[in-house]
Amino acid sequence: MSQSELSIDLAALVSNWRALNALTDCETGAVVKADAYGLGADRVAPALAAAGARCFFVALAEEGAALRRILGDGPDICVFSGHMAGDAALIRDADLVPMINSIDQMSRHVEALPDARFGVQLDTGMNRLGMEPAEWTALREVVLNQPPVLVMSHLACSDEPDHPMNAQQLQSFLEMTDGIDAPRSLSATGGTLLGRDYHFDLTRPGIGVYGGLPFIEAQPVARLTIPVIQTRELTPGETVGYGNTWMAEAPARIATIAAGYADGIIRAMAPDAYVWAGEHKCKIVGRISMDLIGVDISHLPEDPDTVELLGVHQSVDTLADAAGTIGYEILTSLGNRYARRYVGG
Ligand SMILES: *Cc1c(COP(=O)(O)O)cnc(C)c1O
Repeated sequence: MSQSELSIDLAALVSNWRALNALTDCETGAVVKADAYGLGADRVAPALAAAGARCFFVALAEEGAALRRILGDGPDICVFSGHMAGDAALIRDADLVPMINSIDQMSRHVEALPDARFGVQLDTGMNRLGMEPAEWTALREVVLNQPPVLVMSHLACSDEPDHPMNAQQLQSFLEMTDGIDAPRSLSATGGTLLGRDYHFDLTRPGIGVYGGLPFIEAQPVARLTIPVIQTRELTPGETVGYGNTWMAEAPARIATIAAGYADGIIRAMAPDAYVWAGEHKCKIVGRISMDLIGVDISHLPEDPDTVELLGVHQSVDTLADAAGTIGYEILTSLGNRYARRYVGG
């Protein structure tokens, strides 16, 4: 079998969520947008619900409707993109909580679903989603007639604890929400680690639950094991892969492994990336192909059957560094060609 295996450790996932929850005295939600960061909302969300998560966040109403089918009645499902044109039926039927981002969205919501719940997203400086201070001032009294389920904002630089933007956004959030009677939320994983001032009533961790930075203590959740299809000896001067970009300078032994950029293994990482064969670190050589990658196994005592790209030896963030990206992109890029196995659930 040449199918690679993506194993997802639900026990590690739940333990990461609990560890983040233990850092605060407030409620801890869970962000499961983009199919739970690529790891499978149908398994991840129920595991977190069983651990006590009562408030889930998705990006789109469609994701929210799918999540409602997975979770059933009970947990709150909040939608970051708010109430977009055409969303009313989804919001009503799946009992979603749109995070209202603008006066337009507020009007749309009240007109279509006058009695339906909603939350409010405020822009405290990231300039991505949410109402700006002036818009919020204009709408505030009207909105607060029917209290929102949640009033939230999002930090732009929370992965850098010393960045002045954190305190600036905190100040702005405090000013914008002063005196309101609704639960408040400011922090994702990074903000949760910034301390009590940033916690308010609910935190919204995503990446830390999935084993990524900035939650340094996170346990790895994803393990990616790739079969070796073939091994061969190279003599000095022979090359590997498209474009002849790697040449053996000494006699070498090369393994060809069964995954590639079509599986989300970013092609640009090749010059800096490694896989692990047991306790041995092995360099990726040559270009990453669509379905295949060359690996230098010259130093191994015997040919491995499989190698590991993600796991205890190599985190999503180490791999992200090689690709010049972040752990989030590594996880959400993992394709659907893997045999997925859930353990510890
Ligand atoms: C994605 C997202 C989160 C979760 O962020 P992490 O950094 O993954 O913890 C929280 N809030 C908002 C608004 C988001 O878009």
